[in-house]
Amino acid sequence: MSDLVREARPLSLYLHIPFCTVRCAYCDFNTYAGLDDLMAPYTEVLCREIKLVGEAGGRPVAHTLYFGGGTPSLLPLELHARIFAALHESFTLTSDCEVTLEANPGTLSRTYLEGLRALGVNRLSLGVQSSHPHELRLLDRLHLFGDVVQAVSWARAAGFENINLDLIFALPHQTLAQWQATLHRVLALGPEHISAYALSLEHGTPMRAWVYRGLLPMPDPDLAAEMYEWASETLERYGYVQYEISNWARDDRIPQTADDSNPKSEIRNPQFACRHNLQYWRNGEYLGFGAGAHGHAAGLRYSNVLAPGAYIRRIESGEHRPYPLSPAVSECTRLGPEDAMGETMMMGMRLVREGVSSAEFERRFGVSLETRYPRELRSLQRRGLIEWDGERARLTRAGRLLGNQVFREFLVV
Ligand code: SF4
Repeated sequence: MSDLVREARPLSLYLHIPFCTVRCAYCDFNTYAGLDDLMAPYTEVLCREIKLVGEAGGRPVAHTLYFGGGTPSLLPLELHARIFAALHESFTLTSDCEVTLEANPGTLSRTYLEGLRALGVNRLSLGVQSSHPHELRLLDRLHLFGDVVQAVSWARAAGFENINLDLIFALPHQTLAQWQATLHRVLALGPEHISAYALSLEHGTPMRAWVYRGLLPMPDPDLAAEMYEWASETLERYGYVQYEISNWARDDRIPQTADDSNPKSEIRNPQFACRHNLQYWRNGEYLGFGAGAHGHAAGLRYSNVLAPGAYIRRIESGEHRPYPLSPAVSECTRLGPEDAMGETMMMGMRLVREGVSSAEFERRFGVSLETRYPRELRSLQRRGLIEWDGERARLTRAGRLLGNQVFREFLVV
């Protein structure tokens, strides 16, 4: 690794659980329905991968864990217990480690949530998406909003004090009033964190095919922008602090003293900002475990083979690979300083409060932001897409809607 590329520490861990009950119409994640028989053998090799990498890395320290999918809440508690045992054996988890598990409403029970809490899961992320039955049906989601209300109430009773609710807006046929009703119902549940993403028509998904065949209307970008702006203003009014383009979190600590309108003042993310995702957006190091999981560590960006069956066979092959790689890695790129700087800009600019700090950039890469990106910064500032005062670059309100134009400037080709 180049001396110029000094990665942020400590480490985050991502664990991919690629099982779902059905495949939702809009989803392009690496997940599979009907493979429940593989859950036990998959967990066994996942534990083996965790141990191989953890031991090769000398039992590294991790400050966040994230169980994503797929639907991690489909995995029985005894299999989660085995994963946690492997994690504790092979990594040092900090005492305040943030441990998130993605769950689908309708797959949970109070006993299950108590079991997760006892294992150490302290942040629950529920895929809510909408409060309207017809929209949930359109998305192929199996739950109803009543399941969300029940899941939040069980989670609170089980001791969860950090809950994220995921939403999707700009659905085909969705009106502004329907989106507003969903957000108001979600706010009434008092989650610590809310993520809201506009529907994206991903290649290869049934939803995209339906839209392109004219069976569903193309989402209207102007209406999507109106929904986003309304949500930003409403969430702010309800005390949620926007810290990333699509993420808001509460802050129940004493009021902040920093002046947010002044980019030079100290920036503090809200108390319930997702620390795991902050690690990605700050271009920090993380290890990925499981089928199709991605990792970024030791100057490498890598990903595991996608199919669970192939993943199991590769881990069972026992082939030796140097840290942070496991036998399941199918793609790996060594990052040069230019890649690392470009990625730091593209991801960091998503953070609407902290953006990219010039001092931090120079500490990490040995070159100032101003020296490396003079033309890009001036051009984006002139177009009103970023604020740049020589110390910190971050998106303007207008820039939040046109993020892709900003990220493109820093793309390494
Ligand atoms: S439940 Fe989530 S991961 Fe599974 S298919 Fe639906 S959107 Fe994708």
